[in-house]
Amino acid sequence: MSISAEQRARLQAMGIGPVWVLRHAQAEEGGADEIAAAPAAEKTSAAAASGIDQMDWDTLEQTVSSCTACGLCKTRTQTVFGVGDQHADWLLIGEAPGAEEDARGEPFVGQAGRLLDNMLKAVGLARGQNVYIANVLKCRPPNNRNPEPSEVAQCAPYLQRQVALLQPKLIVVMGRFAAQTLLNSDASIANLRGKVHHYRAHPEDSAIPVIVTYHPAYLLRTPTDKAKSWADLCLAQSTFQQQH
Ligand code: SF4
Repeated sequence: MSISAEQRARLQAMGIGPVWVLRHAQAEEGGADEIAAAPAAEKTSAAAASGIDQMDWDTLEQTVSSCTACGLCKTRTQTVFGVGDQHADWLLIGEAPGAEEDARGEPFVGQAGRLLDNMLKAVGLARGQNVYIANVLKCRPPNNRNPEPSEVAQCAPYLQRQVALLQPKLIVVMGRFAAQTLLNSDASIANLRGKVHHYRAHPEDSAIPVIVTYHPAYLLRTPTDKAKSWADLCLAQSTFQQQH
């Protein structure tokens, strides 16, 4: 895949070197064309029983903002519903709000958010323009601990409804936790990267291609893996383009 001068500048802003490094990294991961279908997510009876699977955007956001379905409601400052274009083709999914997100009510703010914005620009995208960003969990786990399975189970219907309302053409999951949750897998992120997975919020839905990549917060701690994240974005872009 060739890149423009502008994209090259964006890559430099991400701290990524020459493209040949990226191709090499992709080759080491076993190529980008392998197709691995993910098991369809189970339709939660809780979502149907509570009417979440019928809600429009406004009702869903209001419901999330007052949700007390799990213990995280006691320690959050506010819920972090998601942000972006509600008709977007691209859906980016992270794990859960951190401290800054909890304070501001928006996902991916601060240093990790700026890196994500630069990554989006590198492939010609921007937050809010054909991109929607959400987390698996809508409330911050205390001290950024890993989410409990029960918390994920309680919160999952909200994300499933966001996917159903959005009907994105592509999902990019960022980080091990979000990837394992969405794909219902316990595989490592190294095994999940470099392949096109598929997700269905409900068995009757069309399969949506899913690309797995690193969480921007991880990339800040491990900048040597930024080249791999660029390879993931290239795979995401080519997968998206193949649908048109
Ligand atoms: S994490 Fe999800 S399920 Fe738990 S209180 Fe927040 S919105 Fe509700």
